[in-house]
Amino acid sequence: MAQLRFSALKDVLDRVPVNPNRPSADISTMFASDVFDLPKMEKYLPREAYNAVGRAMFEGTTISRQIADQVATGLKAWAIERGVTHYTHWFHPLTDSTAEKHDAFIEHGEHGRLLESFSGNLLVQQEPDASSFPSGGIRNTFEARGYTAWDVSSPAFIIGSTLCIPTVFVSYTGEALDYKTPLLKALSALDRAAVDVCHYFDKDVKKVIATLGVEQEYFLIDEALFYARPDMVLADRTLMGHQSAKDQQLADHYFGSIPERVMCFMKDFEYEAYRLGIPVKTRHNEVAPNQFECAPLYEEANLAVDHNQLLMDVMKRVARRHKFRVLFHEKPFAGINGSGKHCNWSLATDTGVNLLSPGKNPKSNLQFLTFLVNVLKTVNDHNELLRASVINETNSYRLGGHEAPPAIISVFLGTYLTGMLESIARKVTDRKMSPALKTELKLGIGKIPEILLDNTDRNRTSPFAFTGNRFEFRAVGSSANCSAPMIVLNSALASQLVRFREEVDALIKKGRKKDEAIFAILKNYILETERIRFEGDGYSAEWQEEAVARGLSGQVSVPESLKGYLLTQSKEVLISTGVFSDKELMSRVEVEYEKFVKKVQIEARVLGDLAINHIVPVAVRYMTLLLDNVRGLKEVFGGIEYERLAGTRKELIVNTSDHITMIKKLVNEMIEERKKANIIDSLFERALAYERNVKPYLSEIRYHIDKLEQTVDNEMWPLPKYRELLFTR
Ligand code: ADP
Ligand code: MG
Repeated sequence: MAQLRFSALKDVLDRVPVNPNRPSADISTMFASDVFDLPKMEKYLPREAYNAVGRAMFEGTTISRQIADQVATGLKAWAIERGVTHYTHWFHPLTDSTAEKHDAFIEHGEHGRLLESFSGNLLVQQEPDASSFPSGGIRNTFEARGYTAWDVSSPAFIIGSTLCIPTVFVSYTGEALDYKTPLLKALSALDRAAVDVCHYFDKDVKKVIATLGVEQEYFLIDEALFYARPDMVLADRTLMGHQSAKDQQLADHYFGSIPERVMCFMKDFEYEAYRLGIPVKTRHNEVAPNQFECAPLYEEANLAVDHNQLLMDVMKRVARRHKFRVLFHEKPFAGINGSGKHCNWSLATDTGVNLLSPGKNPKSNLQFLTFLVNVLKTVNDHNELLRASVINETNSYRLGGHEAPPAIISVFLGTYLTGMLESIARKVTDRKMSPALKTELKLGIGKIPEILLDNTDRNRTSPFAFTGNRFEFRAVGSSANCSAPMIVLNSALASQLVRFREEVDALIKKGRKKDEAIFAILKNYILETERIRFEGDGYSAEWQEEAVARGLSGQVSVPESLKGYLLTQSKEVLISTGVFSDKELMSRVEVEYEKFVKKVQIEARVLGDLAINHIVPVAVRYMTLLLDNVRGLKEVFGGIEYERLAGTRKELIVNTSDHITMIKKLVNEMIEERKKANIIDSLFERALAYERNVKPYLSEIRYHIDKLEQTVDNEMWPLPKYRELLFTR
């Protein structure tokens, strides 16, 4: 690095990796030390309260005010012993992050003194002034009241000197204003519906939970360089930047040895995660330079979502300690891989069975196939709803891009399972099954486990892939709160399972044997879901064409895709399961349109500013330098010799000038388009205008800037380049 254009770069070179000296050997002893989990409850709560909380966590029973008081007292005692001074209700508003408002544990005591206090009332419910959170028109500012209420199923934890209590966030009139409320409802609908279906196979099942393991991809950027890029600071991504000559072509970063400075960061955040009870397990380099991934052990879905949100928060904080910035944006750099948040999802019973894992005998395998095929049916019937749950402004740059699943939601099953389903579809008929056929089917499905083990062929290009004992929903974006897809997936499956049970019961009533009835309905589903099953290369152009022929939409428009929430069949599912009211659903979509508009607006403003006050002045200066040079040539050489020498310089001047002219023209046009869009009343129409008329300018303007970056004197260029951002570590 002989040439240092930036004091920023010099800062980086002066950096010494922070060696956190974290103990990493005894994870199990420090695990959850900052969490008020069951062992701590046992120690700090009276027996009665401990049992009541246990029942509330596992059976969903409610907690009386008197028990809440006991819990609050125990919780306060534990927290204060650990130096905690404040508490907060911690919730997931419809923004991209979590929210908290801290209150000290104090009240007036006698003689003007203060005393530490925390009651059941404060634990159970709070009323943050919440007028500034997005609500999609549910809450008017003049009646800004919303309240937060304790989610007993996710334990309280300590961050610094603050006790955090996971809560739901609802308006005073009862509408959900957060992600957690509908998620809890979806999970409970799924529980009821899945238990009913399990009873065909095992009467002992009392509870079914969704399990979730979230792989989190992210980029790390040196803080000094980050601050030198206003686009990253304000819009979370680079809005300009010519590709680095080398980036990920050699695939030499993926699974490579983790750079020391990065390793220090990872150990440090993992240490904090363990203390918060987040079971982070896997760490590795991802495909793009400076891109990494971490994944925890899977947990119950609501807890896993809380933990993922918390983990992102911890990572952001710890990164700053290491002079890094962690980028969760789905596409911070054009031309290289973006980041996802792969949601590994399955269903587990209280009897210890993974319902999406092949079992040991024909009976458990029929149960496995039942759930597997019902998931297929769900993805088939609610294809557009699923896309709506993952699409947003930031993820739109990733879906269908470099190494990211396309916007077409298809399922990958692997050759073996596909063959198995096809054979069931072929063999099962409407007639009564012969004993020979029954034996054949049973033998066939009895063999699943051993064969599946050899058939873990992975298809990395599929947005929704079966991976042996779970599905992996890969279309979810890295910055997302994965509640949104989890709400949709679990409630749609819940509704599907109810339907399945009704259809099978109807056949049983008509005199069919249970297994036969199940096979018959599964056969119908197998045939119906053919269109969403795809084993080929999801990145290929042929698939785009074929998907259209199959009637699958590859809609990439964000506002159009979001309408997937409002389709008749989507509403049926989300409203009939009690997950949303009509009003709540509508408000959620409005919030999404609004977020989309605001994000494009911010990007457009930032790009406009940078183009005009960073790029154009530098390009003009460079052009002046060239002009001086040409003038000098004329003075010194003159005549034919001058013509020969000045030719290429003149060309460069014209090119530079053309790019400058275009940038100015396009920025002005973009501003005009924004003005037109801003006065459109309908949020949907405004979002469409932003997408169609404003967003295209981002890449057009960028094109000219990136061209200038290639020719303007490197020493003058005002922004760190891709090669610096991506290779400083
Ligand atoms: P990959 O090979 O897909 O990159 P990783 O090891 O990075 O796999 O992540 C796999 C994730 O899947 C982990 O979070 C893991 O806990 C999770 N997982 C495994 N089994 C289940 C399951 N039954 N339900 C939900 N998640 C699961
Ligand atoms: Mg992984």
